[in-house]
Amino acid sequence: TIFNLGSINWDHCYQVPHFVRPGETLNAQNYTLNLGGKGANQSVAASKAGASVKHIGAVAQGDTASLMLNELGIDISGIEQQPGHVTGHAIIQIDSHAENAIVLHAGANRLLNWPWVQEQLSKGGPGDWLLMQNETNLLEQSARFARERGMRVAFNPAPMDKSVTLRLLPELDLLIVNQVELQDLSEQTELELAIEKIQRQCSVDLLITLGSQGALYVSASERNQVKAFSVKATDTTAAGDTFIGYFLASRCVSDSISIALQQASAAAALCVTQAGAIASIPDAQQVKNFLET
Ligand code: ADP
Repeated sequence: TIFNLGSINWDHCYQVPHFVRPGETLNAQNYTLNLGGKGANQSVAASKAGASVKHIGAVAQGDTASLMLNELGIDISGIEQQPGHVTGHAIIQIDSHAENAIVLHAGANRLLNWPWVQEQLSKGGPGDWLLMQNETNLLEQSARFARERGMRVAFNPAPMDKSVTLRLLPELDLLIVNQVELQDLSEQTELELAIEKIQRQCSVDLLITLGSQGALYVSASERNQVKAFSVKATDTTAAGDTFIGYFLASRCVSDSISIALQQASAAAALCVTQAGAIASIPDAQQVKNFLET
């Protein structure tokens, strides 16, 4: 099982002629409401890949987000409903040049209670993974507790916070970063120097996604690389989340890093051909068909 301690957000998207100016009231030309958050996206990807996924998080009392996650096959018993708090959400303006301006409020995502999270994690053990991103609180406690229970811990430091990530490093089995996050963390622009620097600090395995260049897995004993599949990219939203969900789902059933990279790379390639976040995450059958053609 993948225990994913992660954010759940509602993304409110408004199409506007231009970004709202100080003091201005502007009518939106279009509105869509989508479920998102890196946590929710990664849970959906891992679940669609076929893994058993338990999401640990929090939403407002009565929020329907958890029901939507449940319909996508995710165990939602670890999602706390919090009276008096709001669900995490983003107010996204998209202007006529397709630029965006975003206000994000973490809400319940950063108000997780330790007794609740601890109780959820006590159901895990050897063979299970704890997956986390940097959109909730309780990262250090959760990583330590999961490790004590024999679980493996993967962390995707998005959005990057250098000091949080450096503190967490000793508690991790796997650190998953994109190029920007790797640069910010290592303060190195050159890939090999960045890898060296992090490996000097800690013996953690590194999974680095490199956009249209593919991805690289580096551990003390092996190094694996996968090329990105050549597709027509229309919207790269959730590509990283799809990659991570598929990679870990594969690691739950197989020790092979190269199989996991192949699955993840195919799923992420399919994701970038579709618009949207959760809507663009392919299921296992679509990935299988893609790899066979
Ligand atoms: P993030 O979405 O976190 O910025 P990346 O940009 O590194 O992460 O993308 C994650 C993965 O998505 C890549 O490792 C690759 O497999 C896939 N991907 C991203 N862009 C493309 C693309 N243009 N064509 C094919 N695959 C892509």
